[in-house]
Order: sequence, then C-alpha cells, then structure tokens
Amino acid sequence: MPSDKTAPWTIESVLRWASDDFLAKGIDSPRLDAELLLAHALNTTRMQLILDAKKPLLPGELGRFRALVKRRRAREPVAYLRGEREFFGRSFAVDARVLVPRPDTECLVTVALTRTRHCSMSMRALDACTGSGCVAITLAKERLTSHADATDVSPDALAVAQHNALRLGAYNVAFYEADLFPPHGHAYDIVVSNPPYIASSEIDTLMPEVSRFEPRIALDGGPDGLSFVRRLLEGGRSVLSQEGVLAIEVGDGQAPQVAALFEQNGYRDVECARDYGGIERVVSGVWYTPTK
Ligand code: GLN
Repeated sequence: MPSDKTAPWTIESVLRWASDDFLAKGIDSPRLDAELLLAHALNTTRMQLILDAKKPLLPGELGRFRALVKRRRAREPVAYLRGEREFFGRSFAVDARVLVPRPDTECLVTVALTRTRHCSMSMRALDACTGSGCVAITLAKERLTSHADATDVSPDALAVAQHNALRLGAYNVAFYEADLFPPHGHAYDIVVSNPPYIASSEIDTLMPEVSRFEPRIALDGGPDGLSFVRRLLEGGRSVLSQEGVLAIEVGDGQAPQVAALFEQNGYRDVECARDYGGIERVVSGVWYTPTK
C-alpha cells in the first residue's frame, strides 16, 4: 500500500499501483476498478483522472483511496464501494441490502418492453423480487403513462428501492412487502422477475464478490435453483390479464428446462432471449385464460 511518506503519489502512479495490485489478487477488471474507485475517492470522473494524470494526491485523498482499495482487495463489489451502479442508462443507489444490478438483467427489461408494445400507454406491470428496484423503476421510467407494482420480501431491499424511485422520479411505481405477488394485485399486462435462481449448494462456489457480499436471500433459488420460477409460473396464471406476458430471468443453462415449464403450465408463444454475452437469459410466454 502506498504510504504518505512515499511521495509524491500522482493520479497516474497510484492508479498503476492499484491496478497491478488488483491484477495480482485475481480481480477481473483491475484497471477499470482502480479508476472507478479513485474517481469516487476524488469525487470526480474517470475522464478527469486522465486529464489530471500528473496531479499529486492530497493526503486526505490518498487516505480515502487506500481505504477503498483495501475493501476491494477483500473482494467487496465496486458497486457497494461507490454506492451506485448504472442500469439501462440510469444510476441506482446500491448497498449490501440489495443485489447489484447486472447488465444481463437489461435483457429482461428489453423483453418486457418489446412484448408489451401493444399496451404501452396503459401497461400494468408487476416486478416480483424487485431488490434495488432497477427493473420496476426502469419500466416505469420508459413507460411514463403506465403503472408498476414492485414486491420484495426484504424490507431492507424495499427501502433501497423506494429511495431509488424517489431519486429517479419514478412516481408511477408502488412497492409492497410481499412474497412475489402483492395482496391485491391482479390483471397485469406483464409480470417480470429476476428471482433468486442459483441452486443452494452452488452459492459458495461463486466468485467471492457474490458469495461473500451479496444478500444470500437474493441468490438462493432452492435445491435446483428453480423454486421461485415454479411459483411465478403457477401464480402468474391468476394475476395476469388475458394475453398477459410472464418474463423471467434465468441462469446460464436453465432456459430449456424453464421454457418446458412454461409450456407445461399452459403459457404459449414461449421465447428465450439472449443477453449481451449470447447466453439464453430471459424466458417469456403469454398467458391465455382458458375459455370455459
Ligand atoms: N430485481 C433486482 C435485479 O434484477 C433484484 C433481483 C434479486 O434480488 N434477485 O437486480
């Protein structure tokens, strides 16, 4: 670690030191992480760091950066250290109470927006397991004349989600502490969910950023990872409107089995959409209420 006496630490040299250190520790994106954390410590942008590369750090700045580097070396996610994460072009506040929003989850939003084009002006949406609120709030912001309900079992997560809704001015979202479905919600045009979908026994094998720091309740999908998927498929049938859409994010390799479960539960037009990495990430289907 650079000490105050090893003068003078410039932006350029401290970044090189931190990214070499992160690389040696096996961290995936060492340079990017170092830049994000230094920009955070100096309350500036990554662009400004490049422009000010030769500028020496003040002792207080160096101290703040050192503290962040120490936590990152212990594999705490960058998003928690910065207190925010970008999702679908908007910044969401995040901390250890919620799952860090992933780029892959943007696929869930894209599927939801695409499959509800016909009711875009007055869409009623439910986001089950809302966590930081990133999915519900994004839908609400993209469809300002629509309404979204969002649920989570964790009051801690709901506090973060509500804060995000206020911060982003998403006034057309209502939050409920509920296990998937809100007490009075029904007739949704779309139900979306990024539920916990990791098999319980696999959680400890995941990268330390996930297994040690993210809320287990947001990850654990039961013995085969599909406990919540089954309940969403079952419950979706009573809360969806005629021709309502259910869209669920799934783990790598789960899509074929989940698509089969959609069919077995009576959903039609079942589709699998791929994320930025080409992995089948979102399974969706349409619910047609059976005619008597
Ligand atoms: N809906 C949130 C997200 O996609 C949280 C999901 C969760 O906690 N499983 O990031």
